[in-house]
Amino acid sequence: MSILKELEKKLPKDASITEVKFEASLIVLYTKSKQFFRESEDIVKSIVSQLKKRIEIRPDLSITLEPEKAREFILKTVPEEAGIKAIYFEPELGKVVIECQKPGLVIGKGGETYRKLKNELFWLPKIERAPAIDSKIVRAVRNLLHTEIDYRKKFLNAVGQRINSKVLTEEERRQEWVRLSALGGFRQVGRSCLLVQTPHSSVMLDCGVDVGSPNGIPYLDAPEFDLDRLDAVFISHAHIDHLGFVPYLYEKGYKGPLYCSAPTRDLLVLLCFDYIDVCQKEGKKVWYSKKAIEKAVKHSITLEYGEVTDITPDIRLTIQPSGHLLGSALAHLHIGDGLHNILYTSDFKFGPTRLFEPAKTQFPRIETLIIESTYGGPEDVLPKRKEAEEMLVRLINETAEKGGKVLIPVFAVGRAQEIMAILAERCKYPVYLDGMVWDATAIHTAYPEHLSRYLQSKIFHQEKNPFLAEIFKPVAPKERPEIIDSSEPAVILATSGMLIGGPAIEYLKAVAPDPRNCLIFVGYQGEGTLGRRIQKGWREIPIRTEDGRTKTLELKLRVETVVGLTGHSGRNQILSYIRHLSSKPERVIVCHGEAKKCLALARDIHRIFRVETLAPRNLDAIRLR
Ligand SMILES: [Zn+2]
Repeated sequence: MSILKELEKKLPKDASITEVKFEASLIVLYTKSKQFFRESEDIVKSIVSQLKKRIEIRPDLSITLEPEKAREFILKTVPEEAGIKAIYFEPELGKVVIECQKPGLVIGKGGETYRKLKNELFWLPKIERAPAIDSKIVRAVRNLLHTEIDYRKKFLNAVGQRINSKVLTEEERRQEWVRLSALGGFRQVGRSCLLVQTPHSSVMLDCGVDVGSPNGIPYLDAPEFDLDRLDAVFISHAHIDHLGFVPYLYEKGYKGPLYCSAPTRDLLVLLCFDYIDVCQKEGKKVWYSKKAIEKAVKHSITLEYGEVTDITPDIRLTIQPSGHLLGSALAHLHIGDGLHNILYTSDFKFGPTRLFEPAKTQFPRIETLIIESTYGGPEDVLPKRKEAEEMLVRLINETAEKGGKVLIPVFAVGRAQEIMAILAERCKYPVYLDGMVWDATAIHTAYPEHLSRYLQSKIFHQEKNPFLAEIFKPVAPKERPEIIDSSEPAVILATSGMLIGGPAIEYLKAVAPDPRNCLIFVGYQGEGTLGRRIQKGWREIPIRTEDGRTKTLELKLRVETVVGLTGHSGRNQILSYIRHLSSKPERVIVCHGEAKKCLALARDIHRIFRVETLAPRNLDAIRLR
C-alpha cells in the first residue's frame, strides 16, 4: 500500500484524517478538522502534482452541519432562480446533493456560492442538473446510484485497490507487450468489440450487437478472452452496436467497472431496455435480463472529457469528444510508462453539425490509431452539410404542399436530435416523435454542456432550447392511429433507424400506399436491414402482420436519402482528421466499415500517409508492441 503511505507523509500533522479510501482512481480523505476541510485546496494541488493521483478531501460525519439546518442554509444562500428541485444527503460520502435547473447559480461567480456552502455546511456539495424535459431514465439512474451507495463505496474501493495493487519492477517493465484482439465490428458495421491486453491488464473497448444479423454478438468465445480476468470495460457511445451486449457481461458474472461518460450511462439504460423488449416481441433470443442492465449501471464509473484516469495498474484512459452524439467519446489509452499509446476513435465526426463540436485532435502521443470507416470508401465523399439541410427542408415542404406525410426513420439517439435542431428553426409543420425519441431527447436536456457552443448559446443565453420548440409532439402508442388517419401534413420521426422493428414500421405500413407521402433516410442503413433493401430499390417488401404471418407491402410513396446529415465522418473528413492529429501515428488499424470500405481506406491511408495500415478481420489478433 505504498501510495497511501507516501500520501500520509505529505499531509500536515493537524489534518486529522479519519479515513482514507480509494474510489476507483480517486483517493478520498475524510477529515475531522474543519480548518483542513476549508483550506486544504493548495496542499491537495501540490500532492496531486507530486503523486499523479487525484485526491478529494471530504468531511468526517462528526463535523457536518445537521441536515435540517444545512437544507435551510442552502435555500437561503442559493438564489431562487437556480430552481432547486431536491436536496438530499449522502452521509456515507460526506456529500449533499443539490438538484437544480441552473447549476451555474449554485456555483456562483468564480465558484463563490459553492465555496460558501462548503465552508459553512461542512458537507461537500454535489450539484446535479434537473433536465429541462423530465426524464424517467435520468431519475431512475440517479435513484439507483443513490440507494446503492454502500455497495458502490465498497465496489469503488476494490477497483481502486486493484488499480494501485502493483508497482512494476524493472524486470517486468522489460517484458512488456501490448496486444489487440478484434472481437467484433471488424470489416463490418455492428457488434463492435475490442480487447486490449498487456501482461498486467485486460480491457474491453465497446461491446455491441449487430441487430441486422441473427447471431450478431461479439466473439466472446475467442481463446484469449476470459471474463474472470477482465479488468475494465469502456464504452465509447450510446449506439446499440457499441453497447448492446454490455449487460450480458454482468449477466454472466462480471463485477468490474464500466467506464463511460454520464450521458452514455443514462442512454445505455434506455437503449438496452428497448433492445430486450424488441427481441422479446419479435421472438428473438433475449441475451440478458433487466436486472443485468441495472447491474451495469451499478458498476458504472463516469468520466469527464479531458480527465486522465488510471483504469488498471498499467493503463491510463483519457476520453475526448468525438462529435458523433451526446456523450460520445474518443478513447486514448496510455500504456505503461510511455510504452505505447492507442487512440480509438470509435464513431466520430470531424466536421460541422448542429449538435456538437468536431472530434478533438490534440493528443500528446499516438503510436496506434484505430479508426472507423463507415463512409471510408472512395465514393463516400459527403455532400456539404448546408446542401443536405436544404434538401431535407425542400423534401418536407414539397411533400407537405401536396398534403402528404414525411416519415423519417431515426436512431433514438443522435440523428433524431440533429434533425430536431434543424426542424426547430426551419419547419412549420407538426413533428411527431415516436418510440424513445422523446425519452432520448429528455436525456439531452440533462447535459446541455455536452452540446455545441452554438446550441449552448441558444439554451443558456437566449432561453431558446430547440428541443422545447412547440412543433414537437411526443406520441404515445395509443395516439398513433389518430396521426396516421389525420389528413394534415406532418413529419414523423420514429425508431428504429434502419427499419428493423419499432413504430417506424407501423407508420411505414400506413404511409406506403399513398404516392403523396415521402420516406427519407438520414442515417446509415446496415447490411441486411429493411432500410438498406428499400434504399437499394426494393418496392415490394415482406412485412409481418399482427397474427405473425408475412404479407407483401407495396411501397408507392417517394423514397429519398439525405446523406450529408450523418454523424459519421465522410471519407475526406476521415483523412483530414488523420492529417490534423497532433501526433502522427506509426500504425493505423481500420474497423467499423463494410469489408471493401475497410480495405480501401487502409490502402489509401497507407498511400497518403506512408504508415503501416491494417484492416483486420474479426478474431484477428495483432501485437501492437
Ligand atoms: Zn454510433
